[in-house]
Amino acid sequence: MTRLAPFAAAASAALILWHAAHDAPTSVAFAPAPLIYPDSSAGAAPPPTPNPAAPPGPPAIAQQASVASTIEVIVGRNDTLDAIFRRMALDTADLAAIRHLPGTRQSLDFLKPGDAIKLTHADGEIKELTRRLSETQTLKVVREELGFAAKMIDNPVETRIRTASATIDSSLFQAAEAADISDSVALKLANVFAWDIDFVLDIREGDRFTAVYEQIYQDGKYLHDGEVLAAEFVNSGKVYRAVRFATENGSGGYYTPEGLPMRKALLRAPVEFTRVSSVFNPHRRHPILNLIRGHMGTDYAAPTGTPVHAAGDGRVSFAGRRGGYGNALVLAHSNSVSTLYGHMSRFARNMHVGNRVQQGDVIGYVGMTGLATGPHLHYEYLVNGVHKNPQTVQLPGAEPLHADTLQKFRHLTAPLLADLSPQQAAAGTGVATPNIANGPLAAEAASTVFSVSSVLDDSSARFGANGSRTSIN
Ligand SMILES: [Zn+2]
Repeated sequence: MTRLAPFAAAASAALILWHAAHDAPTSVAFAPAPLIYPDSSAGAAPPPTPNPAAPPGPPAIAQQASVASTIEVIVGRNDTLDAIFRRMALDTADLAAIRHLPGTRQSLDFLKPGDAIKLTHADGEIKELTRRLSETQTLKVVREELGFAAKMIDNPVETRIRTASATIDSSLFQAAEAADISDSVALKLANVFAWDIDFVLDIREGDRFTAVYEQIYQDGKYLHDGEVLAAEFVNSGKVYRAVRFATENGSGGYYTPEGLPMRKALLRAPVEFTRVSSVFNPHRRHPILNLIRGHMGTDYAAPTGTPVHAAGDGRVSFAGRRGGYGNALVLAHSNSVSTLYGHMSRFARNMHVGNRVQQGDVIGYVGMTGLATGPHLHYEYLVNGVHKNPQTVQLPGAEPLHADTLQKFRHLTAPLLADLSPQQAAAGTGVATPNIANGPLAAEAASTVFSVSSVLDDSSARFGANGSRTSIN
């Protein structure tokens, strides 16, 4: 899972900053439910008695409140049910009885701050206790004639599929917001394409994307977004498409429509785009891009301290001072690929020669050691010791789907791809013939056929071969 979203965890902080700058002050999304318990110093606090002089409200409820009242308790830090019961002057013998019901102890003893527990009581005697255990399960304990009875209530969720498109004119998140696409979906989208598109330097005004994704509802109410099922990203006119597919062993991953994994051995950019997007404005040429020519790598301007990630799995082959590079780290990857990270302010822990790193691991932090005029990461990509342009080099891919799986893949993903863009998908499903799905060259054959609509094979076939980067300057 972490492989699919190497940046997601740390990116949320940047998102908050972005929103602080862009959003009008609106309601707080995660405000806890109001805390409704009486002052703990009040001792045996009686339930609020209805004011006799109150205007005519719903009399039935007011009257009932004096008999049994329902309160929702929000669990505080280090809170226990015992403490809650004492604080609210509820009968602790009832709590002991409830705890002894089969299966309830596990569901009640582990409380998290912010959890809500609903209690109905009359003068401290518990009538009902409800606790939502998960999105789909609620524990309900009810006092019956012979004592308490517990049952588990299922709250089924409904997954709806939404397809949404947006065109970028300043940033990925702004475009997403304008199309009513959540940040979490925008981030997932960026992670799906993280191996093909450099979200720091490659995003251009006019880039557009479409996402087919899950929205989770309960009782007709929207809860949150789920997985991105299929996505398309058009970057500088190049079309990248991905579809989610779970292989036999159950791990979900993203593949091109031809069944080639989106995940590659090396990430396109070793820094989090969300951390640097604040300085990025696609309306104007990024000053850094002018430095790319005649330069052996790519520079990412980013604040000092921005985490730098290992572009791929590998071993540390150098870590220390190296002339103009300042604090530099070199990673050796498979296929004679190595990557170099320069000007770092410091290294992450355990960056010693010979140690292993995994793709996405934080290896150090942006700085300006060595010959640097401002804080940035200097990044180089070498194959057999020869420099390649990190932004255009064809990245080694992971294993394609096995031929047996490919047929199932085509069958299951065709409707998603159809959702993504009806006309193109129609052409795509047309090639899912048995002779392509079989044999060792399945993937190659598929991409050849797909080249009839050339946009579809860009992501897998001849990436960067035509030097499309010349459009930069
Ligand atoms: Zn540089």
